[in-house]
Amino acid sequence: MRILIVEDEVALAGLVSERLSKDHYTVDISNDGEEGLYNALSGMYDLIILDIMLPHKDGIEILREIRKENNEVKVIMLTARAELEDRLLGFGCGANDYVPKPFHIDELVARVNAQLNMGRAVQNVVRFGDITLDYNLSRLCCVGSNEDIAINNKEFQLIEYLMCNPDRILSKEMIFDRVWGMDSEAVSNSLEAYMSFVRKKLRVIGSKVSIKTVRNMGYRLEYEEQRL
Ligand code: CA
Repeated sequence: MRILIVEDEVALAGLVSERLSKDHYTVDISNDGEEGLYNALSGMYDLIILDIMLPHKDGIEILREIRKENNEVKVIMLTARAELEDRLLGFGCGANDYVPKPFHIDELVARVNAQLNMGRAVQNVVRFGDITLDYNLSRLCCVGSNEDIAINNKEFQLIEYLMCNPDRILSKEMIFDRVWGMDSEAVSNSLEAYMSFVRKKLRVIGSKVSIKTVRNMGYRLEYEEQRL
């Protein structure tokens, strides 16, 4: 899942981003209100963490614009001004939750998880064919062989994206944006490298699921049993 942080305190945004990445989220950061609004309206995000006091455009205005577009994205507002008035203002224009600054990072992460788990698979597990992916364990498991293997964060996000879009061909660009983020300096052959790690792990656990390359189009998950 993909999160946008709109926060002008660079160190704070970095800290939150680092922590959320460890929890398997893909995170982009905007340090400015105008850029934040532009990114928020892209429709790419599952959740936006939105500061109120921002250069060029404040968080309340950004939230209004998002809701005007009928964008259903979850929004958690942050602000140093912890007055009740601000809370009401935040909810009044469609924030899903509100975290006053200063906050403990664990609290913010818990609220992010609470917002996103509402739409997530039961028991925090995604399934496709004979494989399951457990959000709590960072392991890829094969039900058929009863084998499992540890996977790192990028591998997790890559296979999660494929598993959550079983009927779609996902282009390299889509996968790259989703897993590495828009501003990533990673090069596109990182994608091929990670793709081969995940393919290898699928083989190691004895799964009948494989990642097919669709020529000039992208990638798709395939489950051998389905073809019979
Ligand atoms: Ca601020």
